[in-house]
Amino acid sequence: MKTLLIGLLSLVTLAWGWDIANAVTPAQINPFWLARQEIMYLSGLLSVALMSLVMYLATRPAWLERPLGGMDRVYRAHKWAGILAVAFAATHWLIEMSSDILKAQIGREGRIPKEKFAGFLEVLRKLGEDMGEWAIYAVLAMLVITLWKKFPYKAWSILHRSMPVLYLMLAFHTVMLMPTDYWTQPIGMLMAVLLAAGVYGAVQSLCDSIGKGQQSRGSIVAIAHPAADITTIHCQLDDRWGGHRPGQFAFVTFDDKEGAHPFTIASADRGDQTISFEIKALGDYTRGLANRVQIGQAVRVEGPYGCFDLARCNPQTQQIWIAGGIGVTPFIAWLESMQAQPDSAPEADLHYCTRDQSTDAFVPRLQTLCATLPRVKLHIHGAKQGASLKAKELAASPDAEIWYCGPAGLGNGLREGLKSLGLMPRFHQEAFEMR
Ligand SMILES: Cc1cc2nc3c(=O)[nH]c(=O)nc-3n(C[C@H](O)[C@H](O)[C@H](O)COP(=O)(O)OP(=O)(O)OC[C@H]3O[C@@H](n4cnc5c(N)ncnc54)[C@H](O)[C@@H]3O)c2cc1C
Repeated sequence: MKTLLIGLLSLVTLAWGWDIANAVTPAQINPFWLARQEIMYLSGLLSVALMSLVMYLATRPAWLERPLGGMDRVYRAHKWAGILAVAFAATHWLIEMSSDILKAQIGREGRIPKEKFAGFLEVLRKLGEDMGEWAIYAVLAMLVITLWKKFPYKAWSILHRSMPVLYLMLAFHTVMLMPTDYWTQPIGMLMAVLLAAGVYGAVQSLCDSIGKGQQSRGSIVAIAHPAADITTIHCQLDDRWGGHRPGQFAFVTFDDKEGAHPFTIASADRGDQTISFEIKALGDYTRGLANRVQIGQAVRVEGPYGCFDLARCNPQTQQIWIAGGIGVTPFIAWLESMQAQPDSAPEADLHYCTRDQSTDAFVPRLQTLCATLPRVKLHIHGAKQGASLKAKELAASPDAEIWYCGPAGLGNGLREGLKSLGLMPRFHQEAFEMR
């Protein structure tokens, strides 16, 4: 993710720098006014470039899963590109607002003359200016509610749907106010490509077409309640479902009004278009799910996505698998997929962290699945039993590979613990949160 963001920022800065290196500045221009103008352009360009990336990543481009490490990482890149884009937009706006201060400090002399347009074009430029300002206020407000985790997800997702419109306003602002000579230079060409990608994303989102090509339809064939807060749902999908790799997830719609939620496919690929989900009552929608689903009900599944994939485990290195609570679902799919050929299972230690191991419904399930896999050693850590997992219990070697799925807090604690032991093993973590 960092490489993608730094790469994009560097590319735009270099292209902007190419223009500066080749520009001829009249002698009467005050360097302060010149610097203000150029930094204003750069912050605007960086903001719109990132915003375009945000819009493109929102289309869930499956081809970016491998380079970025899974769709959860694509979403993370989407989120951080958005945060950075708003920071640059705020900088751009503050520099624009600094004009009066500079006039008072260094006078009006030596300012860069504005480009002159006439007629309808001037009207459009003025409109572009206003649109940019309104959109900046709106994206700033959006950033505040995105970072304010207590803001309800549902309300946030409704407001978040306005982002394509705000993006189109900012794209219009860019096209109308970017210096005309940019269009014949690398910076103009780069921005044209980025704007095209961003507009594509915005239109896909407005037309509700995102992920349509990856969708299958089906119905619920069985439901179980292994615990009061867990619902197991088995689905039969149509022929459009091309199978999945153990550990992948899908966006599942049980109710059109509610929309799609991401859930890990908690079963191995059986080659018959049947898949299962283990859903924990974690929030507003999932708490009432058990009463809303019934056998025969239609379901829409988009995916599969994700790179939390058993095939990516390196059997030559020490394998440590850690599941926290409902984060056990990808490991259930892994264990199921190894049942047909237990000898092909890699040597691994599977740690399952639960609140209370005496009542947890996944404990007997994991024990049954691991019983046929002699190379997979199961360790249960019940917090109520005073057996919370500590980094030193992992007995990790420096080149160990850790696969973690569970609450972010537990994962971060284990990482920190390993660091304090002087260990930096490869840590693959499935991000169970997208906002
Ligand atoms: C890759 C991935 C795999 C997951 N696998 C499982 C699983 O196997 N079993 C399981 O029980 N849970 C899983 N989750 C979590 C599950 O998606 C959320 O618990 C569920 O969407 C919460 O919805 P809610 O309306 O009940 O909760 P809310 O209280 O509305 O939201 C709680 C949090 O859930 C997330 N969330 C809510 N709605 C959505 C949505 N439509 N799209 C994306 N995120 C959303 C947000 O981070 C939000 O802050 C997974 C999440 C991800 C990202």
